[in-house]
Amino acid sequence: MELLSTYGSFINGSFVEKTTEKIISDYNPTNGELLAQLMTADVDCLEDAVTSSQNALKEWRKTTKAYRAKVLNEMADIVDANASFLAEIEARDVGKPIGEATMQMGMCSSMYRYFAAAIIAEDDILVSHDNGSISAVVREPLGVVGLILPWNAPAMLLSWKLAPALATGNCVIIKPATAAPLVILELARLWKDVIPAGVLNVLIGSAVGEPMLHHPGISKFSFTGSTEVGSHIGEVAGRNIVPCTLELGGKSANIIFEDAQLDRALQLSILGVLASNGEVCVAGSRLFVHESIYDSFLEKLKEKFESITVGDPTKYETQMGPAVNEGQMKSVLEYIEIGKSEGARLVCGGKRLTGGDYDKGYFIAPTIFADVDNTMRIAREEIFGPVLTVLKFKTEEDVIKMANDSDYGLGAGVWTTNLSRAMRVSRALDAGTVWVNDYLTSTPGNPFGGYKKSGIGREIHKLAMQYYTNVKNICFCGDEGVPPIF
Ligand code: NAD
Repeated sequence: MELLSTYGSFINGSFVEKTTEKIISDYNPTNGELLAQLMTADVDCLEDAVTSSQNALKEWRKTTKAYRAKVLNEMADIVDANASFLAEIEARDVGKPIGEATMQMGMCSSMYRYFAAAIIAEDDILVSHDNGSISAVVREPLGVVGLILPWNAPAMLLSWKLAPALATGNCVIIKPATAAPLVILELARLWKDVIPAGVLNVLIGSAVGEPMLHHPGISKFSFTGSTEVGSHIGEVAGRNIVPCTLELGGKSANIIFEDAQLDRALQLSILGVLASNGEVCVAGSRLFVHESIYDSFLEKLKEKFESITVGDPTKYETQMGPAVNEGQMKSVLEYIEIGKSEGARLVCGGKRLTGGDYDKGYFIAPTIFADVDNTMRIAREEIFGPVLTVLKFKTEEDVIKMANDSDYGLGAGVWTTNLSRAMRVSRALDAGTVWVNDYLTSTPGNPFGGYKKSGIGREIHKLAMQYYTNVKNICFCGDEGVPPIF
């Protein structure tokens, strides 16, 4: 399959052919290749998408759980059948190494299958009351849901929202990030014969985001992106009394105790920060290493970082591709300058890669800063690139305090062979996910979400279905009825 040369928004089962808004070009960050032209959505597109979703909702919300499960399973089959095409789009549009992109397509299809099974297994509740009445506690879809997404893992992050939203009988309007929307547009195209028209719509462009937030026809928002934008979305949703879930940024602590299995800790700590070019919300970007192993661990880290293959993400041997665009590369390079000026010790990397094919794209050398103080900006702010900050600690108590001294609370890693310590430290950390002797594992059934400014709500688990439904209590009068007060 080939990409189209031009994409419009996907509304009511087909791509829009003309809009009054501007056309923008989507380039490959590896080599500047023009991937496609994007016709951004205007307010008429938004109106059409809302109308089409609301019309589709009338039938879709009445479909059986079995029918929606069948649709989700068919969506999964389509992802599997087209995995290499979809992974290649992410490699070319996002710059994600193809091996990782392929693995993420497998995670997408398993997410649709998981929620197909979860909705079938979901039971409503009957509660009998002392006065003989009975409550049927049923869940109903919220209606039309706005799914607002970032650019770093578009297909996978979409599956975390779309699967529970559709399983529970909602229609969706998806707004991908403009930096890398192609895989979502292609998924819409591939799914068009299995998802009824209007149940899934996709709007292109950042300008339509704000009008979406204020549209009275949208009954819930599910957002993944930066804490700054998430805070604004939550504020608008709150003002309009519209439910909203937020998956936001992170500055996750990964803690290596002296008794850890160090080879495995080394390998997964590198994956934890360099996966997807470091553009991962839950990146273990603050690495705390016990003072007794600090120098030797750092030496091994440096050796590994310097041997990472950075290059064309469509090649399987590539371990790291480019930043998604020039703006993102500049932002990461600025943080590297901040780190230097704050007095952190640059161990390796610290620059844009240049020469040969590197000059055509936005490549950054895998970077380590050592002797970082937890008060430095590079230890407090999300860099969202291949930059690891390494901090030394003495005691368990100290490291818990430093790890929790952060605005964020998305993930954490604890590396130790002492089970009691693993339990103690995991419970003490303010993080939505704590991996023990592991990092980044994510399969359906591992609830994911943040503490503190990393978000509100959970995804990747059947718990997520509660965020897409309203609870209705249908109370049946019992024999005794209500005392005759009036
Ligand atoms: P971003 O916040 O800049 O943008 C995210 C989305 O919000 C985009 O689609 C953007 O167009 C849209 N948006 C921006 N302003 C808006 C407005 N006023 N109204 C409506 N929509 C608006 O984030 P990004 O740069 O695309 O992605 C990187 C960020 O995403 C990082 O902070 C990262 O940590 C976070 N992220 C979090 C998770 C998670 O699950 N917690 C996963 C991936 C990425």
